[in-house]
Amino acid sequence: APYNNYKEHLYKILVIGDLGVGKTSIIKRYVHQNFSPNYRATIGVDFALKVLNWDQETVRLQLWDIAGQERFGNMTRVYYREAMGAFIVFDMTRPSSFEAVTKWKEDLDSKLTLANGKNVAAVLLANKCDQGRDVLTNNGIQMEKFCQENGFVGWYETSAKVRIRTHERKVSAVCWIKVKT
Ligand code: GDP
Ligand code: MG
Repeated sequence: APYNNYKEHLYKILVIGDLGVGKTSIIKRYVHQNFSPNYRATIGVDFALKVLNWDQETVRLQLWDIAGQERFGNMTRVYYREAMGAFIVFDMTRPSSFEAVTKWKEDLDSKLTLANGKNVAAVLLANKCDQGRDVLTNNGIQMEKFCQENGFVGWYETSAKVRIRTHERKVSAVCWIKVKT
């Protein structure tokens, strides 16, 4: 038989963060390349599939949008189950949404552990960067430090409104590299 190293992977990736930070918008941008200023507040859980092709491998990122369940409780435990990675999103223009990031991270880590005993890879997304950069994120070094201290594998500025391809590629790359290991 011919040598075949073609592989397919399916990963559940959570998209979490406070209400209104742009989770649904980021997913729509990333998966469907569009933006609308008024998405209905979704109720329950939404899914979107982003397919990445890397050499001989196909990676399907199943993005879970927490959609209307933006509070902690038993609901998040069920929702987090079997996830391989998480994007924790905050709004660059809203400091309180940044403060909530550590709460989301703690909620996630307290309810979900990988089979190898480690926490799931979490990437921090600073959304709405088209609106100007908040003082919080003006200093990249501080954010690096924040990520190290709080167990994030990295952080990226994003905008669901304005497409930034280089950012998109980096996010895809980090997702792939981190979930692969
Ligand atoms: P969610 O509650 O976290 O899912 O947030 P939504 O995706 O519903 O977005 C909340 C609001 O922020 C909506 O009015 C969006 O149009 C707006 N929004 C989301 N992302 C961006 C962005 O990157 N830039 C700007 N300017 N507005 C955004
Ligand atoms: Mg939403």
